[in-house]
Amino acid sequence: MGKASAQGGTWDAIVIGAGLIGLAVARELNGGGLRVLLVEQGEAGREASWAGAGMLAAEQIPEPSPLRLLALASARMYAEYCAQLRAETGQDVEYRQIGTLAADGTVWPDHCVDNRRLVAALRTATERRGITLLEHTAVSAVSPAGGGWCVRGGEREWVGRQVVNAAGAWAGQIAGAALPVRPRKGQILAVQGPAGLLPRVRMGEGVYLVPRGDGRIVIGATMEDVGFSKALDPRQLAALHARAVALAPAIAGLPVVEQWAGLRPGTPDDLPLLGAIAPGLWAAAGHFRDGILLAPVTAKILAALLLGVPPDFDLKAFAPLRFGTAPADGAPRAGANHGPA
Ligand SMILES: Cc1cc2nc3c(=O)[nH]c(=O)nc-3n(C[C@H](O)[C@H](O)[C@H](O)COP(=O)(O)OP(=O)(O)OC[C@H]3O[C@@H](n4cnc5c(N)ncnc54)[C@H](O)[C@@H]3O)c2cc1C
Repeated sequence: MGKASAQGGTWDAIVIGAGLIGLAVARELNGGGLRVLLVEQGEAGREASWAGAGMLAAEQIPEPSPLRLLALASARMYAEYCAQLRAETGQDVEYRQIGTLAADGTVWPDHCVDNRRLVAALRTATERRGITLLEHTAVSAVSPAGGGWCVRGGEREWVGRQVVNAAGAWAGQIAGAALPVRPRKGQILAVQGPAGLLPRVRMGEGVYLVPRGDGRIVIGATMEDVGFSKALDPRQLAALHARAVALAPAIAGLPVVEQWAGLRPGTPDDLPLLGAIAPGLWAAAGHFRDGILLAPVTAKILAALLLGVPPDFDLKAFAPLRFGTAPADGAPRAGANHGPA
């Protein structure tokens, strides 16, 4: 390829959006020998991937969802994925095999990770590998350019032989690469307890609790269809907290240390968008409630697609163009909802 610089130029691959999905995909593409530019409108990893709870809830995705196979495969990859990241960066992402206790007493072999630590480690990994990360640069449009794709951000342009839309809840906003994704807001909070107070993830009706190693307990989350607002509603957060205390009375009285909100990237059937939008233009978006869980498998799949290797999975159910001309805004359709996050 020709000369490439953050000011412009030509790249083997350009990834739009540096959330967990974009970071993981960029790292994997770099591992496959591609020179990668990662363009992020804000700060890397500060949107849904930072806001999430970090449950890896593959076992809770019911049959016959096509997502289950992908989710179980990603869950199986997690331990090794985190070990590799640790070897590469020296950072521990607190992947813990502690299982999930459901309200009826069932224990699921679903685990958890500290997604904020995971984002930070992936960021370090991309930097160490020499992947160029451009922050505070919003991509507005993608258009064909010779054999590749021109990516426009503000006054600047870059050409990618291949381009990946990994823009999370904003993946529908990029002209020429727009995907049927819409934001699904989640409000969430954390209390601080002593380490080990909750030995497992807890799952109840309309609430879940995810313990961190330092005793912090993340309590999630609302599911709202309110556009791109991340405003907090004290009443909804109080109701969430009350449900959490009813499920796990041991947390009553613990101080609330943080409240926040994030935007899940939703699709009309709640399934991700993985595959070609056009030759050389790819989707890695719409991971809805499971993007933290699905990051390792998504990275593997996108790397296979961009490197021209058949992926290990049947991706028909995740085809980005499966809705044809139907809702371009990711509006949910009935009946496809799954999972707790
Ligand atoms: C409250 C809550 C709880 C959750 N809990 C879990 C959980 O327990 N387990 C789980 O697996 N998943 C969970 N999720 C879902 C998970 O967080 C998401 O599916 C996942 O983070 C999506 O990753 P992403 O990289 O696609 O999106 P994001 O992390 O949102 O990243 C997209 C990035 O693209 C950037 N971007 C957007 N537009 C542009 C543009 N035009 N140009 C350049 N950059 C752009 C954004 O700034 C952002 O950084 C939860 C989500 C929420 C909100």
